[in-house]
Amino acid sequence: MKLLSFRPLLLMTLYVGVVMVLALEGTAYVRNWSLQRLQAQGAERLLGNITQLRSALDQYRYLPFVLTQSREVRALLRAPERDGGQVNRYLEQIALVAGSSTLLVLDLDGLLRASSNWRDQQALLAGSQADQRYFRQAIEGDEGRQFVQEGEPPRPSLYLSAPIYDNQALIGVAAMRLELDRLREQLPIDYPFTISDRDGEVLFNVQMPARTPEVREERLSDGTRVRLLRLDGRQWLQHSVVLDDLDWQVSVWIDARGVQQQQRIAAGAIGGGGFALALLLLYVREKRQKRALQREQARERALSQERQRDMISTAQVGLINVDTAGRIQFINPMAMQQFGVSLELMRNRPVEQLLDGGQSSELLRETLSNLGTDRFRPLTGAEMVGRRADGNSFPMMVSVRGMAHHPELGYLVTVIDISRRKRLEQALREANESLEQKVAERTRALEEAQAELVQAGKLAALGRMSASVVHELNQPLTAIRTYLAISRRQLNNPGMLSDNLRQLEGLIDRMALITGQLKTFAYRKPEQVGPVPVAQSIEQVLTLFRGRFGEMKLVPAYQPPADDLQLAGDQARFEQILINLIKNACDAMQPGGGEHWLGIRVTADAEQVYLNVEDNGPGIAPEHQAQLFEPFFTTKEVGAGLGLGLAIVQSIVRDLGGDIRAGNRAQGGACFEVTLKRYRADAEAAADSQTLTGG
Ligand code: ADP
Repeated sequence: MKLLSFRPLLLMTLYVGVVMVLALEGTAYVRNWSLQRLQAQGAERLLGNITQLRSALDQYRYLPFVLTQSREVRALLRAPERDGGQVNRYLEQIALVAGSSTLLVLDLDGLLRASSNWRDQQALLAGSQADQRYFRQAIEGDEGRQFVQEGEPPRPSLYLSAPIYDNQALIGVAAMRLELDRLREQLPIDYPFTISDRDGEVLFNVQMPARTPEVREERLSDGTRVRLLRLDGRQWLQHSVVLDDLDWQVSVWIDARGVQQQQRIAAGAIGGGGFALALLLLYVREKRQKRALQREQARERALSQERQRDMISTAQVGLINVDTAGRIQFINPMAMQQFGVSLELMRNRPVEQLLDGGQSSELLRETLSNLGTDRFRPLTGAEMVGRRADGNSFPMMVSVRGMAHHPELGYLVTVIDISRRKRLEQALREANESLEQKVAERTRALEEAQAELVQAGKLAALGRMSASVVHELNQPLTAIRTYLAISRRQLNNPGMLSDNLRQLEGLIDRMALITGQLKTFAYRKPEQVGPVPVAQSIEQVLTLFRGRFGEMKLVPAYQPPADDLQLAGDQARFEQILINLIKNACDAMQPGGGEHWLGIRVTADAEQVYLNVEDNGPGIAPEHQAQLFEPFFTTKEVGAGLGLGLAIVQSIVRDLGGDIRAGNRAQGGACFEVTLKRYRADAEAAADSQTLTGG
């Protein structure tokens, strides 16, 4: 992945590198080629110049020889005393014929004997020429040649000379002087050109700059060496040749500015070409990629269309396309199956034909009538009835929407056959109904069973009560019967009789007590509710138990409440509550089983009075908790308890609009909490009592 993104950069760098190498190679080649051309041009130019130079020199070269052949000249040299006037005129004539050069005749001492410009006394040579090279060369029998700087300012002249013989004896020297300005006129050169001697001293130059240039040698590909000069920012190529016969080195400078220019052009051309080629390649690549992308997109599109078509034809919902007039344009296979129609059959038919009449289909009719108008509202999941081609109808769920992206394509009607769902719903409803029925039956059965149970419980309670009452009453009855029988036999013993009667009285009292208790239970409603002084009532009950407390060595823990604390009820009943609770507590505490403790606590708030009776007995067993307040429930031995005490307490408390709760203390022992209404004569009294009761 990383390599892939790196590749174009690498290719680009490589390409730029190749183009640069090509540009460098190209410029080197062009330079080489241009320098070769310049070199060839220089050679050609030089050749032309040398030819011109030679022909120019050849014009004059013969002149000294002409003089050596002159009899007058020889005669003059022979006779030193002779006047050279005649020879002067002769030389003058020849010079005129040959062009404006000066002809000279010198004797062996190098002194001037005759001259063509004898009229110009100033121009005449003064002194001996014996030291001049051209003179010496001639004396030695050679052809002499020398450039000399003469005059003010010094101007170069070329001296040519030849020895003059007479009868094979050297008698003098003939010479010719040529002002080089003249020679230059004959050489049509408009570029730097020099003639220098073997030592490199410049003898003659044309357009040559006075300053010395920067010199550099370069070797060309064909092995030739070229000299490149640089002066004032301009480049020159110097081409030289040595003329052996003259001992001259002749050089031309050729403007080499073009070389760099051509180099630049070549570099530009290659670089530009490379760039253009790169652009072309990029363009081609881009084009190819674009085409590939287009192909890929077209393929994707085709695939997507294929997929859509496939989805539409395999969809498990009916799809119907209608135009804005509600005429069918397309139906997918599922819809055909649902309605039992074909597209050929239904095309351009109104979609309403697929509807069964009825209320529910009205909604769809209305939606369809609004197609293509502003009033159209999409329909979603409406339940209605569809009609199959075979005349059957089926429940369906219909949605109608505009085509999301192409409204001109009309609307899409989605149809889901909900017959199965409807069937399931029906089945479910039926199942529900039967379940409800079953539940009702079961409830009834349970209620009956419960009623039976209650009945049984009642009977059991009745049985228990009967047993207790029978037991309680039988005992004194048997005793009464016994006492009566004894009394009958002792009718004549009045002392015994009155004793027995006292016993009988006691037994009847006991029976009255039992029935009295039952009566309290039977006639529960108090006649009237009045104020009951709480502290006073408790005090009275405690007095009743004084004897029992004494037996048990028990001092009840009791803090009396405020004297004026009153509750709503009647005193006798409240005392009965207290009696029963205290009695039960005393019964529960085993006689002699450790230290006994009984707590009586009274608290109150604005509305209620709370009475707590607690002991340190065994407490209430969990299994008894539920039955505690049932009539005739007792854990005491037959005869010891009727099981009515708590039942009576509960019924009294309820009658007084209060509540009773039984529980166990954390430290052991039972705890009974009674809540009763506080007495309030009127609102004022209630307010007063509120301030009076504190604890
Ligand atoms: P009885 O006292 O005649 O048995 P009760 O209705 O007064 O009838 O009491 C019913 C039962 O509740 C008692 O037999 C006893 O088992 C239980 N009970 C009542 N008070 C206490 C108490 N303070 N501690 C333990 N058990 C108690």
